[in-house]
Amino acid sequence: MERVREVRQHIGGEWVDAAGGRTYDKRDPWTGDVFARVAAGDADDARAAVTAADRALPDWAGSRPADRQQILLRAADALDRQRDDVRGHLAAETGCGAHFADVQLDFCVRLLRQAAGLGYAPTGQILPSDLPGTRALAVRRPVGVVAAIAPWNASLVLAGRAVVAPIALGNTVVLKPSEEAPFTGGAFWARLLRDAGLPPGVLNVVTHAPGEAGAVAETLIADPRVRRIGFTGSTVTGRRIAEIAGRHLKRAVLQLGGHNPLIVLGDAPLPAAVDAAVYGAFVHSGQTCMCARRIIVERTVMPDFAALFVEKAAGLPTGDPSDPATVVGPVINEWALSLLERRVREAVDLGARLLTGGRPDGRCFPPTVLAGVPPEAELAFDETFGPVVLLEEADDAHDAVRRADATDFGLTAGIITGDPYRGMDLARQLRAGVVHVNDQPVHDEPQMPFGGVRDSGAGRFGIGFAAEEFTEVQWVTARREPRTYPF
Ligand code: NAD
Repeated sequence: MERVREVRQHIGGEWVDAAGGRTYDKRDPWTGDVFARVAAGDADDARAAVTAADRALPDWAGSRPADRQQILLRAADALDRQRDDVRGHLAAETGCGAHFADVQLDFCVRLLRQAAGLGYAPTGQILPSDLPGTRALAVRRPVGVVAAIAPWNASLVLAGRAVVAPIALGNTVVLKPSEEAPFTGGAFWARLLRDAGLPPGVLNVVTHAPGEAGAVAETLIADPRVRRIGFTGSTVTGRRIAEIAGRHLKRAVLQLGGHNPLIVLGDAPLPAAVDAAVYGAFVHSGQTCMCARRIIVERTVMPDFAALFVEKAAGLPTGDPSDPATVVGPVINEWALSLLERRVREAVDLGARLLTGGRPDGRCFPPTVLAGVPPEAELAFDETFGPVVLLEEADDAHDAVRRADATDFGLTAGIITGDPYRGMDLARQLRAGVVHVNDQPVHDEPQMPFGGVRDSGAGRFGIGFAAEEFTEVQWVTARREPRTYPF
């Protein structure tokens, strides 16, 4: 397997060190060993990357759809051939296990193949005008340079989603990956697309040391040549990004955190509901934005559901992410581990019942289930990124919806019921960007309109929906004859 030792920035088609010459060591979350020495860029690197993206823009925006398509299709095939290496990189860089690595790989190969057709999507409309002799068009064109800021947690998908559709639509991009995923969420994409024939400057990657994201991100957003921001990450950071973008009058697509409910109604088939809930809460060690954080169960079935759910959760294999049997691997870093421990302890101190888990085991946090968590506990109202889930009892379906919506977030939700039509009626009442009936909340496909409402963000990713976010509509009129004016 390929061993990554060094991650350099990619600016204007060149692999470059940080302008200031600094580096940092990115560590493997499971072994603690150095995964790679990474360029620690700063505002100067961000400006250089914007310059490269701006230079590449006219040619790329004017390129033939067929040429863009060939590059993306070649990249899809190349990614498909590198699956074993990528699985290894995802495990070593982010602690991602085999199952979720395959989820990411499948998504990205399909994303590239679908995006390859985007250049051929209709680019406008002919509009009727009340002005005789005037032809009017609404024409979609690229927005220009896009700043893409991505998180670490599903690094391959979230960096891919942030760059592939904007590039396919004729924009150029500066990608700022998380300090926890500079390779699989950054340099890897630059290499994949460059090897597939992407011209220099169309995709640039700037990396930085932990704690230094703010200066790089602010430089990108403030630069007048950057015309749109695509941000995926926590709500706390998203709020900062939106404030800076607002100051510079720029639109930001914001994909933020969630506190996602899974409702289990009294008519749900129990073993299937338990399987769904365990997957939704613990896939990728609870470190996806879509994970079920609260399982709201109708009172009549709660005792049976809780017994089966806790038993299955407690038995999930935990440990080395490179072991294909592992379900719950290490959490991303020490800070995340101590936050999980502190929040569980706080909830228990406030009166919650701990049904399983609750204490770190080495670098892992074992599957943890709590019931009776009081509303003032942080676990009850804030996203807690890890394998911790809350059980909540509801009187009936109406009460379940009320409880599900008792949050400032609104990303994903699931409803499990014996009657899918009843589930669809309830889905329309939920304040969530995505609702799956008879499935748990963790599911995404490249062509779907993925995104949240309220504190979970604004805007949608998804091939077909991306055009709304990463193109500008220009109104063009043309006349053959001169107009008659009143003066
Ligand atoms: P994060 O907010 O800490 O970081 C996200 C990005 O913002 C990273 O690139 C980081 O370097 C950068 N950043 C951090 N501090 C910054 C600052 N002060 N100014 C500017 N940029 C800054 O999030 P994370 O821990 O990397 O990722 C997990 C979070 O992302 C969770 O909240 C999760 O729910 C969310 N997420 C949302 C989606 C979605 O589609 N809605 C998808 C995945 C993850």
